[in-house]
Amino acid sequence: QDPGAPAPDGPRRKIDTSRAHPARVYDVFLNGKNHYPVDREAAAAALAANPRGYLDVRHNRDFLRRAVGSLAAESGIRQFLDIGTGLPTEQNVHQIAQHIAPESRIVYVDNDPVVLAHARALLTSGPDGATDYIDADLHDPAAILRDAAKTLDLSRPVALVLVAILHFVEDDKAYDIVGRLVDALPSGSYVALSHLTEDLNPVQIGKVARTYHERGFTFVLRSRERVLKFFTDSGLELAEPGIVPAHHWRPDNVATVPETPDAGYLAGLDAIERTKYADIRDVTDADINVYAALARKP
Ligand code: SAH
Repeated sequence: QDPGAPAPDGPRRKIDTSRAHPARVYDVFLNGKNHYPVDREAAAAALAANPRGYLDVRHNRDFLRRAVGSLAAESGIRQFLDIGTGLPTEQNVHQIAQHIAPESRIVYVDNDPVVLAHARALLTSGPDGATDYIDADLHDPAAILRDAAKTLDLSRPVALVLVAILHFVEDDKAYDIVGRLVDALPSGSYVALSHLTEDLNPVQIGKVARTYHERGFTFVLRSRERVLKFFTDSGLELAEPGIVPAHHWRPDNVATVPETPDAGYLAGLDAIERTKYADIRDVTDADINVYAALARKP
């Protein structure tokens, strides 16, 4: 069975260590521990194509933190549907939201069996709120909504978190999927979205895309206009400051870098291991390939 395919009722998918998986490659970039040699090789190839590419991941993760924090603290959002959760790292959605509002309820969704194993163990709610983890594919929004409704009240506002996932979905599906999810949410709901783009640093990100295509990933870079279409098609209203490079989205002074890693794998990954707070603050626009935005359903 294809380990990337949805298996809603089928036997548990096996963990495939013979080819790279997006969640595990992302984990390499975040200095996590849940990846295999094939994932490190894919990350090293991407870094060879774009040596400061690890900054994208840090700034993407920082956008997620600021967006969820703002939704919880300023917009009063108490329900989150985070699709494409990734491997647990520090400051996951429920920790950020429940730190501000302990009663927050979070549903995590991912289709990767490694994420599933770790998420069930680590993404656990505080006593006043709730978390659930759904093993599902973004290509099946109906299944996601059905299972999410066990934990979330879909008649009350929800923040749909689609952070660094839509570039794994082709155009012919992606817009329709986002439309279906947004349609199911009530007025006052939000969408937090980030997306890799070729607009800002086209030559290097183009080379990165080739390294992923060679490894069999679906990987669709989108221009600002095509990212904007996710919002306009679903009738969403962009919140300030609109669609901007991730590090320009409501920046704050607290730049975070995930924990120090285990030392000593591929030499090409040295830069990740040596990343310091200063590196992620000293970012230039030419380093970043991620658009970030938040929008409200009127
Ligand atoms: N949202 C997190 C992780 C991004 S990595 C963050 O921004 O930090 C992208 C995640 O999306 C991976 O965990 C990958 O397994 C997941 N993913 C990719 N395609 C998916 C799909 N079709 N359905 C569900 N999850 C998917």
